[in-house]
Amino acid sequence: MPFDVITIGGGFSGLVTACRASELGATALVLEQSEDDRYPCSSRFTTGVVNVMGIGVMSPREDLYAAIMQGSAGMADPAIARVIAWNGQRTIEWLSVQGARFINRALQKDQPGQRVLAPPRRLQAGLDWEGRGGDVLMRRLEELIVARGGEVRRGAKAVELVMDKGACVGVEVTRKGETQRIDAKAVVVADGGFAANREMIAKYITPRADRVFARVGPGAKGDGIRMAEAAGARVGGFGEFYGYVHHRSAMTNPRQWPYPHLDAIAELSVLVGPDGLRFTDEGLGGVCMANAIARLPDPLSAFLIMDAEAWANEPKYSQTVACNPAMTANGGDLISAPTVDALATAIGAPAPALAETIVRHNAGIARGDFSGLKVARTQRKHPPLPILKAPFYAVPLSAGITGTMGGVIITPNAQATDASGAPIKGLYAVGTTVAGLEGGPRAGYVGGLSKSFILGLVAGEHIAANR
Ligand SMILES: Cc1cc2nc3c(=O)[nH]c(=O)nc-3n(C[C@H](O)[C@H](O)[C@H](O)COP(=O)(O)OP(=O)(O)OC[C@H]3O[C@@H](n4cnc5c(N)ncnc54)[C@H](O)[C@@H]3O)c2cc1C
Repeated sequence: MPFDVITIGGGFSGLVTACRASELGATALVLEQSEDDRYPCSSRFTTGVVNVMGIGVMSPREDLYAAIMQGSAGMADPAIARVIAWNGQRTIEWLSVQGARFINRALQKDQPGQRVLAPPRRLQAGLDWEGRGGDVLMRRLEELIVARGGEVRRGAKAVELVMDKGACVGVEVTRKGETQRIDAKAVVVADGGFAANREMIAKYITPRADRVFARVGPGAKGDGIRMAEAAGARVGGFGEFYGYVHHRSAMTNPRQWPYPHLDAIAELSVLVGPDGLRFTDEGLGGVCMANAIARLPDPLSAFLIMDAEAWANEPKYSQTVACNPAMTANGGDLISAPTVDALATAIGAPAPALAETIVRHNAGIARGDFSGLKVARTQRKHPPLPILKAPFYAVPLSAGITGTMGGVIITPNAQATDASGAPIKGLYAVGTTVAGLEGGPRAGYVGGLSKSFILGLVAGEHIAANR
């Protein structure tokens, strides 16, 4: 007997799909490539803040919809944006009934209506997931799937979709060295995107893929996108990613990611390339800055420049783990110099160019007008900080990719679509691996948890109703 549903991937998107479908009577199998009991993936590593394009998931649906359309600058498919906006609240309510625990307060004070998975992360340097909200909820969902007659099969790697007359009817799976075909009425691609796949990063984001780092688990290899494309599914929406500005040492130092990151102080400071010149609008925030860093000819050539006052006050601005002192205390060097010229020498940038950059930055702050700058400078929450007081500081930067944008193009029921835009029978995609919501000039990021939870719920219901 075929399963009613197989999910490729045991992160939140796959678990929620299977959990909801099995609650509605479907037989569900979750394939997870990792053999570990507590297999590493973004869902387990998550900080747990559930929002939609920066606003709390429990906000009115019209607000959620407007935020997605505005934040993605037209990249979002209105029909998929509506699915997220209209189902956000009920998804959180459904998760709560399943036993998910949320803290009903904002981690970020200016974002009311957020839900944060409990227990929340301790907010300390390095990965801190054991017993935290993501880990606890993953285990709870697995328990429910098993209690409802389903299974989470570890060490089972999906390698190919089985197609018959244009419909997906199963999956080829390797496990313990053997390949097996498993039949299903519906297969759901839920593999978490491609942040850990260098070839795909090189194809879609930067040719210097070895000079950005995956701020995720090791499993996000883009298998689902590859398999879906090979089966005739449309893919697209690639280019931007959801990521953070990090100290350069995060490339090799696990104490530097996912926390601390430098988004907050970078937004108020100046980012320069090896030429001492600005290359991005810092005021657009961390996701945009990380994308701009990744797109430099050498993504490991950028520096954050600030003064003594900014560094001393950094903990005031950080929303999570303050870099001062977590960055330096955990092996991230802070380059310090008594003058701007000396700082330029220390980072290998031309001193006149760096001095000019700082003069223009300070002049813009004094005038309250940055309109003369070659690279625009906008402002969000806090005004930028002047660079006046010695010692002057530089932080070597890197870009951490937390989630890729773009992937399988879906219908509002999370069905994969073919070249004509029609749904492919039996094939679905959910979570980070889908397109249709994010990207654009400001790298609009909807929220990984919202995408996984909401699309998983919707897919599970559609599969159960159509089996
Ligand atoms: C450090 C960190 C903090 C985050 N904080 C937040 C936050 O506060 N708020 C928020 O909204 N989002 C956050 N995110 C993002 C969010 O956690 C993810 O977007 C979401 O959990 C992704 O779920 P998923 O199911 O799509 O993918 P994943 O959780 O990555 O799960 C995919 C699973 O599929 C498996 N898999 C892959 N290929 C195969 C294959 N061929 N066969 C079988 N299995 C396969 C993988 O091993 C993996 O276990 C964070 C992410 C990270 C890394």
